[in-house]
Amino acid sequence: MSNSTVENLVIIGSGPAGYTAAIYAARANLKPVMFEGFQAGGLPGGQLMTTTDVENFPGFPEGITGPQLMERMKAQAERWGTECYTEDVTSVDLSRRPFIISSDEREVQAHSIVIATGATAKRLGLPSENQFWSHGISACAICDGATPIFHGQSLAVVGGGDSAAEEAVYLTKYGDHVHLLVRRDQLRASKTMQDRVLNNPNITVHWNTQAVDVFGENGRMSGVKLHNNQTGEESDLQVKGLFYAIGHTPNTSLFQGQLDLDDVGYVITKPGSVETSVEGVYAAGDVQDHEFRQAVTAAGTGCMAAMLAERWLSANNLIQEYHQKPESEPPTQTANEKPTADTEATFDINKTRHVGGYALRKLFHESDRLIMVKYVSPNCGPCHTLKPILNKVVDAYLGKIHFVEVDIEAEPEIAENAMVTGTPTVQFFKDKEIVDQLKGLKQKSEYRQMIEKYLPAEVSAAR
Ligand SMILES: Cc1cc2nc3c(=O)[nH]c(=O)nc-3n(C[C@H](O)[C@H](O)[C@H](O)COP(=O)(O)OP(=O)(O)OC[C@H]3O[C@@H](n4cnc5c(N)ncnc54)[C@H](O)[C@@H]3O)c2cc1C
Repeated sequence: MSNSTVENLVIIGSGPAGYTAAIYAARANLKPVMFEGFQAGGLPGGQLMTTTDVENFPGFPEGITGPQLMERMKAQAERWGTECYTEDVTSVDLSRRPFIISSDEREVQAHSIVIATGATAKRLGLPSENQFWSHGISACAICDGATPIFHGQSLAVVGGGDSAAEEAVYLTKYGDHVHLLVRRDQLRASKTMQDRVLNNPNITVHWNTQAVDVFGENGRMSGVKLHNNQTGEESDLQVKGLFYAIGHTPNTSLFQGQLDLDDVGYVITKPGSVETSVEGVYAAGDVQDHEFRQAVTAAGTGCMAAMLAERWLSANNLIQEYHQKPESEPPTQTANEKPTADTEATFDINKTRHVGGYALRKLFHESDRLIMVKYVSPNCGPCHTLKPILNKVVDAYLGKIHFVEVDIEAEPEIAENAMVTGTPTVQFFKDKEIVDQLKGLKQKSEYRQMIEKYLPAEVSAAR
């Protein structure tokens, strides 16, 4: 779908950089359009959707979960009129003006662009990595090192560069001892950092050593399997945390050949600014920052990008202002507030939406509709992303299906009975039998197709 309107500003990416740019641009009456992303380069909401507690973002002395923080940023951006599409940008044409930004669903023209596509921490791809991710394995020592599970424990860091050396030193504040796993027989880190590592009695460097897997029990990591690439020796190292410091990949493939990128692929910005090599195009957050990589620095550069875009549009007489009031009151419900489960007293079979095990059991036995069950857990980032997507889908089938949300942390026995192994999972039940399921985060159309597949022919969605 293409539209002849030329937007003031398109923001690509919905991490702290993207949403901050959106808040500033929207409040400057630019009515920005944001492509939040879907699967390319991480989740809508960015890297913080994959973490639990954020303890260092100013303004939250009691801490806040990553998904909760991002939900609040999004609400603030939308409140001031940002138009959000939960879609990946598939191509960008910077060779003509206005620029063209395309996704699978639409083509948008814009006078200016903020690139906030972030960077993806490299992973080792160990066989048990997914199982222990965030349960011992982390890609951010600065963010996660102070977590109680690591206090007083032996920890390991993988990598041989400055980041790995810095993280090893940093972790000695919390861990009892830190093991640095270095693939080669020397460090790539600067001389100063090498000295700090090698002279620290709380750090042991394992040369020529690679992590080949992790192990643990009851869902918590307890050690790393090592391979010495010189001697061939295999060994187990008992550690409660494994921190990856093997670099990041900036999400810039869309811009290759169109913008100046450095050797690794980071967008090059002018010193002290977020201007790129193309006028009217700005880059904010981790996509242009290989040094600090924090939510607050990403947000700071997002603010700079929006302000510079506004100045540039204005100086070039391209600005079209949209005067508007905030769309709604600030949200009061937070991501951690749980919906109330149905009870015998509140359950009503005529309603479409339900919560919890009581409702599920009742519907399983008594409903003559298709039942869609969403299994979620409180700290699962993709579950937060799925919420508005499924809400829209369910809205289209009011009175035609039953929808039940089950929190597997609160009701683990239900997840066990339904053989749910991860969240989000959406299962479909008909005539007392499970007929299908979708695991993980999917596009709206996939949920719709699944419903249509099992809905009686005479019943269709409200259009
Ligand atoms: C596990 C973990 C824990 C962390 N904890 C902390 C912490 O406690 N405190 C802290 O300050 N920092 C923390 N960080 C670092 C912090 O998350 C990042 O510095 C920050 O998220 C960078 O923000 P960003 O907006 O630049 O990019 P990101 O958060 O990476 O967001 C990038 C966005 O771009 C989108 N995108 C990518 N490609 C496309 C495309 N083609 N089309 C559309 N959209 C696209 C993605 O969907 C995503 O929305 C943590 C990082 C990790 C991995």
